[in-house]
Amino acid sequence: MTEKERLHEMGPGGSCICPKCESSLPHRNGVKCQDESCPKCGAKMLREGSREHQQWLKKKQPSS
Ligand SMILES: [Zn+2]
Repeated sequence: MTEKERLHEMGPGGSCICPKCESSLPHRNGVKCQDESCPKCGAKMLREGSREHQQWLKKKQPSS
């Protein structure tokens, strides 16, 4: 299974997170988080638990 397929298998539910102001939206079926805009600041959202979201978490909280 490729990474892309694995992400697709995440299924319904979950949340989209704003990488700028950290507000979250419930993920809508059939709408990619990247296609959602933050209701507060207009930034592109990240799917919670996605690789992009994990990378953002790492940047936000350096392990040092
Ligand atoms: Zn925002």
